[in-house]
Amino acid sequence: DTIGANFDRTVARFPDRDALVDRPTWRRWTYQQLAAEVDTVALGLDRLGVRKGDRVGIWAPNCAEWVIVQYATAKIGAVLVNINPAYRVHELEYVLKQAGVRTLVAAPAFKTSDYAAMIEQVRPNCPDLRDVLLLGGDAWRALAESGRDADPARLAEIAATLGADDPINIQYTSGTTGFPKGATLSHHNILNNGFFVGELCGYDEEDRICVPVPFYHCFGMVMCNLAATSHGAGIVIPAPSFEPRATLEAVAAERCTSLYGVPTMFIAELNDPSFPAHDLSSLRTGIMAGSPCPVEVMKQVIERMGMGEVAICYGMTETSPVSTQTRADDSLDRRVSTVGTVHPHLEVKIVDPQTGATVPRGTPGELCTRGYSVMLGYWDDPEQTAEAIDAARWMHTGDLAVMDAEGYVNITGRIKDMVIRGGENIYPREVEEFLYTHPDIVDAQVIGVPDAKYGEELMAWVRLRPGAEPLTAESLREFCTGRLAHFKIPRYVHVVDEFPMTVTGKVRKVQMREEALDILG
Ligand code: ATP
Ligand code: MG
Repeated sequence: DTIGANFDRTVARFPDRDALVDRPTWRRWTYQQLAAEVDTVALGLDRLGVRKGDRVGIWAPNCAEWVIVQYATAKIGAVLVNINPAYRVHELEYVLKQAGVRTLVAAPAFKTSDYAAMIEQVRPNCPDLRDVLLLGGDAWRALAESGRDADPARLAEIAATLGADDPINIQYTSGTTGFPKGATLSHHNILNNGFFVGELCGYDEEDRICVPVPFYHCFGMVMCNLAATSHGAGIVIPAPSFEPRATLEAVAAERCTSLYGVPTMFIAELNDPSFPAHDLSSLRTGIMAGSPCPVEVMKQVIERMGMGEVAICYGMTETSPVSTQTRADDSLDRRVSTVGTVHPHLEVKIVDPQTGATVPRGTPGELCTRGYSVMLGYWDDPEQTAEAIDAARWMHTGDLAVMDAEGYVNITGRIKDMVIRGGENIYPREVEEFLYTHPDIVDAQVIGVPDAKYGEELMAWVRLRPGAEPLTAESLREFCTGRLAHFKIPRYVHVVDEFPMTVTGKVRKVQMREEALDILG
């Protein structure tokens, strides 16, 4: 079905349930109220001349308008282009031009970024860009007024022209391994994925999802928003961008039943000084995704946050995103050590990256996904699309994984992050897991650095507990000796306060490898 039709069905079923809570601005909407705003904005965009297939960009941190624009564009079949809130002027220009954005909805500013000024700066170089609507500004208000005056029957007329396989969204990847790529996704791709994520989390109209992850990424807009609205659940926005304390406060105040995050967010929440002050007893489930979760963190999320049904999801923007997910009845061990089993209606296989042949269960290889969730392609980039999706429609993820006899998948790293030291393949993940057992280490990331003798050597970047003794490479090596194979023991250690991160909360190992070259001289 189309996203608009699905949304309207939920509105008809649960008109008076909470749909959206925007805590920073103290605003809230029931489904019926949200539907009225969505329709107003949809009609306003239509009157502005936005047609099916036209690209509408949204550049804002998490806020209610983000959600409203998401559904308003879906209703008129416009292609929503998610723009990363952390972009600077060059990246903004690149995306606006690459996607051919016609209408841009943007926050006037965020943190130290003056969005309005940056937009003015790039505007002369973006010939497709006709309208800029700054949230809270005159043009945005005028759009709403014009939408309120329009004939609502127009929306039914437009709906009749939309198809579930039409492109509806261009989502850029996180840019963890290079420049972000624009995945073009259909209603069918993302609505079904959101629906199944919600099914497996057991969502219904009693649930409220706290969403500290960015809407601009599929984790927010699909796994939260579409999962919520396809099941009648509510969306709770704790803050414009991630803040551990505001997140915990939102869960407690709104009695949220589900909390999302990448592992680093859960680590920050668990270590926040205010943690013991919040009543988190409403939490039942949640999703952790995006990067590998250390076992110790998972245990604490279950025990100290009460998220007994927490799910681990694995996926990528190009596959709408989720391919595998743990189920609420999976054993604790499975939920701490795997990313679950394949989602309904999808196929996953593990292949030898060199030959492309499917490897036996238990053997590592590249994970490939096939099914309804695979993107239409990278926007305006047939070459990269052909590299990623083969003739039989398998999406090659670039992730290394192992599938066990019962179909549980374990992600062991990215092909690009694997370290080869003296001919031995090392998965940094395994070393990171071990470093977590060090009493002073709260977070660890391991990369390969060039080495004349072995080709590559391991370097561990670690964050230490406040008040910990200084950690030297020598003392760390001593800690590892006898417990980790000698070739997996990091040669170098670098203590940091923070890792270089993407806005989606992923550690940018590319950047770490660049910085490591400077550190090592
Ligand atoms: P780019 O493609 O621009 O380099 P990215 O791959 O990080 O960035 P996303 O599409 O946001 O962009 O993320 C998908 C990737 O995240 C997957 O390919 C995988 O490497 C990683 N990932 C997602 N979920 C998990 C998980 N549960 N465990 C381990 N890794 C995960
Ligand atoms: Mg990727």
